[in-house]
Amino acid sequence: MSVVGLSCLCSIKTALLPRSVIPLLSPPIVNMTTATTTATSFNRASFGGLSADFDPEWLLTPEQKELQEKLIALCAEVLRPNAIASDRDLIYPRKNFEALASLGLLGLFVPKEWGGLGENHVCAAMVVETIARYGCPSTAMCYTMHLGAVAAALFRAHDNPELQSLLQRLDADVAIGTLSYSDPETGSHFWYPVSSRAERTSSGWQVFKKASWTTSAGFADWYIVQTTSPDFSGDYSDLSCFLIYQDEVQAEPHKWDALGLRGNQSGTLLVDGVAIPSQRMIGPIGDGVSSNDEIVDPFFLLCSSACWNGIALGAIDIAKKHVTRKKHVDVGMRVADYPTIQDYFGEAIIDTSACRLQNFSMGQLMDQLTNDCDWSVHADASALPRSAYLHWYWQIKFSAAKNVAHVCDKMLHACGGSGFKKDMEVERYLRDGKAGWVMGPTNEILRQFVGKSALLGFESLDYWNQSVNERVLHNEVKKMSDIDKRKLAEALLAEVNEKEASAADVLAKASAEKAVMAGVGA
Ligand SMILES: Cc1cc2nc3c(=O)[nH]c(=O)nc-3n(C[C@H](O)[C@H](O)[C@H](O)COP(=O)(O)OP(=O)(O)OC[C@H]3O[C@@H](n4cnc5c(N)ncnc54)[C@H](O)[C@@H]3O)c2cc1C
Repeated sequence: MSVVGLSCLCSIKTALLPRSVIPLLSPPIVNMTTATTTATSFNRASFGGLSADFDPEWLLTPEQKELQEKLIALCAEVLRPNAIASDRDLIYPRKNFEALASLGLLGLFVPKEWGGLGENHVCAAMVVETIARYGCPSTAMCYTMHLGAVAAALFRAHDNPELQSLLQRLDADVAIGTLSYSDPETGSHFWYPVSSRAERTSSGWQVFKKASWTTSAGFADWYIVQTTSPDFSGDYSDLSCFLIYQDEVQAEPHKWDALGLRGNQSGTLLVDGVAIPSQRMIGPIGDGVSSNDEIVDPFFLLCSSACWNGIALGAIDIAKKHVTRKKHVDVGMRVADYPTIQDYFGEAIIDTSACRLQNFSMGQLMDQLTNDCDWSVHADASALPRSAYLHWYWQIKFSAAKNVAHVCDKMLHACGGSGFKKDMEVERYLRDGKAGWVMGPTNEILRQFVGKSALLGFESLDYWNQSVNERVLHNEVKKMSDIDKRKLAEALLAEVNEKEASAADVLAKASAEKAVMAGVGA
């Protein structure tokens, strides 16, 4: 691992960290061996929420159910208590990742022969949902980004020893990964990295990445970053991905402060001309679009939707516990006995079940398409089975992110003023769930993508601003007077002439240089 980027705004040195982060650097209080062994005393019922009757358990294998039970226990003992502190003090949830690593979850779908659990997409959705519901939503989101980065690495690991070595030590080293895409200049159009680029060097690449948001920024051990490709010639669909390590990034965790998912630490990220060896490019030059459509979008949308569904369920659980215990002595009834409250729960459960089933169904589809998440299908670099279903992934995220905000709001109403207070935790779930709508692809963009592609075809989406809408163009020109049309035509002609002249100039200079060189050679 080379050490570059010495002008770090923050190289994660204690002195530069916010006070709230420093406790993380002391040894973890929880002994993981103890956590996993004693954790069996906890189960779903300990949370006082919905019973397993409301879970689509038929989707899970016996091994996955067993894994879920262990995870629920770990959530009760380790993740949930840490979630409260993480939210209050903006603490990055590394301790929770250490706990997840004790169950092998950082290598959840890494093949067994590489030391992973060899699990599938349905299992990934179950794990993220469970962490968000019973443990810590911030951890669930950081874990979602980790899984996205792991998937992007597995996609192109077949002939890449660097990626293979990383993927085999995820749990042993608690090596947390993340995805760094969003650009400060293009906002939620995270597929459009105008501020980033990469150049060829004699031994590899020099990477310049400027990201406005990156979950786990500065805390993750490795990053998948996307930039325009080396030899970029103005076509923004020409993208490439790189593996960057923690000591090569500059982050600003002290600036992170947000409404919800406060442990998520989604701050800025700078990779400032870091030189890396050739095998740190992930896949071939220009593989960015394939990587986005086949891996980053499907995995991020599946797992983040599971996170929003888990948050909705977590809020329902908390509220159920409260309304079944709180009594009104005057009328001799519990809050849960009022039909209004029962209606809140009925609607919240039905809507959330619809989102979960939609999400798990996409997980099943991804399993079918890839022989249960068998990464060897990608030994053929042109195999992109998941990418044929993009608008389905968009739909699961839209539904889950829309639902979570509504459900958390209604659960807060069901709990009355008690829900407004921090100690019940439903307000934290409400704040965390609010991130769903605004996280890219935002729900405004998603419904636009789905509606526009349904009506006008996928090519109309024009991600990289390349195709001309002649209907609009002609309509605008139609409004102009003849004089204005002439002015516009002259201005356009002058622009084209100038461009052509400068291209001819460059060509003439190049051939003059060539002639001089030829003369020198002779
Ligand atoms: C908690 C959290 C974690 C994140 N983690 C990561 C991460 O790990 N990696 C990463 O790369 N990014 C991450 N992001 C960034 C995220 O993906 C988006 O890029 C970001 O939320 C967009 O915010 P913005 O202020 O730039 O929005 P803007 O793009 O400025 O959007 C403002 C408004 O305009 C709307 N809008 C924008 N474009 C269109 C359009 N074409 N059509 C219709 N409406 C439009 C938006 O929906 C929104 O309502 C994270 C964001 C959050 C909130």
